[in-house]
Amino acid sequence: MIDTKLLEILACPACDSRPPVTLDGDTLACAECGRRYPIRDGIPIMLVDEAILPDQGGHETSGSSGT
Ligand SMILES: [Zn+2]
Repeated sequence: MIDTKLLEILACPACDSRPPVTLDGDTLACAECGRRYPIRDGIPIMLVDEAILPDQGGHETSGSSGT
């Protein structure tokens, strides 16, 4: 489990307003964009690249193999 004091200083890196994130199971969720950031070994991974995007209920595009 993650320290609540650490939670207070964390903010979503994907949002300009840097909103706080809230603990949601094993992830930290942003109320603004809905992204969820994983927590590994007690360390929150506050990276946009690592964020889990909210389920948009649509067809998922899987053509993101970067070049
Ligand atoms: Zn956000």
